[in-house]
Order: sequence, then structure tokens, then C-alpha cells
Amino acid sequence: MRLFVVSLGCQMSVADGGELAAPLLARGFRPAAAPEDADAVILNTCTVRQHAEDKALSLIGRLRPWKEERPERVLIVAGCAAERLGEWIRGRFPHVDLVVGAKSIDDYPRLVESALASRFDALRESREAFADGTAAPGDPIGWPSPAVAPLTIMRGCNYSCSYCIVPAVRGRESYRALEAVLAEAREKAAAGAREILLLGQTVNSWRARGPDGIERRFPDLLRAVAAVPGVARVRFESPHPFFLDDALVAAIAETPAAGLHLHLPAQSGSDRLLSRMRRNYTAASFLEKAGRLRAGVPGIEVSTDIIVGFPSETDEDFARTLDLVERLRPAWAYTFKYSPREGTDAAAAPDDVPAAVKEERLARLNAVCDSFAEAALDARIGRTVEVLDENGGYGRTRDGFRARWDGPAQPGRLRTVRVTGKSKRTLRGECT
Ligand code: SF4
Repeated sequence: MRLFVVSLGCQMSVADGGELAAPLLARGFRPAAAPEDADAVILNTCTVRQHAEDKALSLIGRLRPWKEERPERVLIVAGCAAERLGEWIRGRFPHVDLVVGAKSIDDYPRLVESALASRFDALRESREAFADGTAAPGDPIGWPSPAVAPLTIMRGCNYSCSYCIVPAVRGRESYRALEAVLAEAREKAAAGAREILLLGQTVNSWRARGPDGIERRFPDLLRAVAAVPGVARVRFESPHPFFLDDALVAAIAETPAAGLHLHLPAQSGSDRLLSRMRRNYTAASFLEKAGRLRAGVPGIEVSTDIIVGFPSETDEDFARTLDLVERLRPAWAYTFKYSPREGTDAAAAPDDVPAAVKEERLARLNAVCDSFAEAALDARIGRTVEVLDENGGYGRTRDGFRARWDGPAQPGRLRTVRVTGKSKRTLRGECT
């Protein structure tokens, strides 16, 4: 029996795809190369932007003939769009066997069993009749590479950024116990992971009380995961600026395996807009934290997210955003034009920045961000850098830059690469 998993959206969604696959893999499913070869498809959806949701709905529709061809096949739709539109999906797409919203992921193995056990048995019988061969398992589902394993440590979000649908579809924060996180890190290291990518919506808000009654916080967890035998690197996504404190700065500085890159989403440089976005910091306090991080961890790189054209954004607001970016000097940035997301508070305000103005501001912002990205890449040419080989001749430096090199290639190995050039956002080099 074969399984194909499609994960749309963020790294957490991709990691969730691995968790969603687990009960089926335990039932003997093996990864398929394409939906046509599969007996079961899991579509893990995203709803952060309308575009992602539209893509998920289009994929569900396109799987109708796949299902009609062999009705015993299984189609599971999960994730954030399934949470937001569950009832509607059930009514509109009767060929979907099971819809599981993001808030139910912890209960998912039980839901799959109770809803689909007889279907799985029918599938197994029909497959056995065809003497189905065993497929090579391939890379673990949900891993970015054979050497990099995601590890979800918390779910949900206690914030209420006015433009964001995540708290509505993922619920309040919940944290995994430290012991469970460490057990999974050990398991993944034993399965070949050299890098652990800690994931959570606001990953650095993690905290949990141990059996000894003592509360551990994210910096403790970072140190503990880095100490797991076989783990050469630990990175984390997505941190919230509020939880970037001195303890976290010290943990990064004192943990040789910690990635020397932090993604700090700023979103705007205008305090007026930051307040309307409900971001819980000002431009000055954000920059002050970034400055403390850089002072405490020499060589660390910072990247960011910026939204342009948020409702009521004026030329002056945008100038403040450009000013923040100039001061932050991000190594790279993800930039977005605001678009209202149904169900969020911001969507109730008029989307009043004209499309042409958003476009023009985005182009100006990108020009500034691109200049910093180019400078960061150029500064590395001629240097030697340590790269974790993720996919055989391709990987990341400790400070988060993508790198490709000529010479030996073996996923999981740490390589010393002399940087000789760059293309797009990737360093080029040769193995020394
Ligand atoms: S911190 Fe804000 S942007 Fe991030 S997931 Fe929570 S509500 Fe959304």
C-alpha cells in the first residue's frame, strides 16, 4: 500500500505531514512517488493566505477522478484550512474520506483508526491480491532533507496579531514535555538526523514543568537538544521577538551546535501600525533586542518579515519601515503585500492602500532588502565556511546561508567549503 503526502504552507505544516503519515506508515503504507501510484493521499492544508487555501481546494477537486477511479482509495484532508472550512469541505467534496482540522492533530491517530480502519483493511486485501512489492521508504516524510529532522515542540499561539488567522485555526499554545522532545530528538538522531529543526508557531515561548516540578524554558530546551548525541546543529522557527531575552542570547552564544541565525519578524517600523497589528513591541524595542542579540552572539545573522500596505499605512509609516530595515540590516527578508484574511480583525478595516501604492512600496522595500542580502553573500566570498551537507553537495552554513559546492557529497557530513562565488541567494564553493 502506498501513501502520498502533500503539505502546503510553512515548515510546521511540512513537519505535521510527517506526523499525519505516521499512523498509516504503522499500518504498512510506504511512500509513493506520485498520487497516481498511491492508495492513500494526505493533503495537509494551509490557510494563512487566500492563495494557499485556494490551492488546497483546487487540489482536493483535482483528486476527485483519482478517487473515482478506485473508490477504495483514501483521501484525508488535514491542517489549517481543514480547521477553518471543515464542514464546507465535507459538503462540497464528498470524495474526501476524512477531514481533520489543525486543532485535532493530537487526536488524529484515533480519528484515522475509528473512521478508516475497515477501509484500510479493504485496501490491504486488494493490494495483496495484486502482490504489491515493497517500496523503498525513501526520506522520512516531513523531513526537509535526510540530515535535517523537524521536531514540533509547541502548537498554537497566544498572541492575536490582527492580520493573522493562526490563533483561530490552531488555538491556544500547548507545549510538549521536555522528556518527550528529547526522546524524539534521540530517535531522529538515531535515524540519521544531524540537524534538529525545532518548530512552533512562537517556538521560543516554549515552557514546561518537569517531573521535578521545575519549569524549563526555551533556552533550557535548546541546550538540552543540542546535547543529544549525534546532533551537530539545532535551529528553530519561528521565534517571537517578545521571547528573545538575555537567557536565550546566552544559550545561543554558549551552545556550539546552535545555529548562528535568527529569524525575527518585524512586520513594520511604524509604532502606530505595530500597535494596530497588535505586535506587542515598538520599533525601538525591536531594534534594541536585535542589537543585544548581535552584541551577545558575535557573527549571528538576522532575517525578518515585513508587510507593506497594511490598512491606513501612510508614506510616513512606510518611511519608518524602511528606516527600521536600514538599521536592522537583515541578511534576507520575506516581504509581503498586505491582503485581508477573512476572519481576522484587520479584515474588518478597509483595505485602503491602493494596489499600485502597495506594489511601489514593495519594490522599494525589496531593493533595500536585496542590497543587504547581496552584501551578506559578497562578504563570504573568499572565506571558508562550515556547511552541513543536506542533500549531497547542497546544504546550509551555520549562519543559515544556502551553499552548493563541487567535490565530495554525502548527506549528514559537516564540510568545510571555500566560497568562490554566488548565484541568486546561494553561495558557491569548493570543498577543502
Ligand atoms: S505571533 Fe502573531 S503572526 Fe505569529 S502566529 Fe501568533 S498571531 Fe500569527
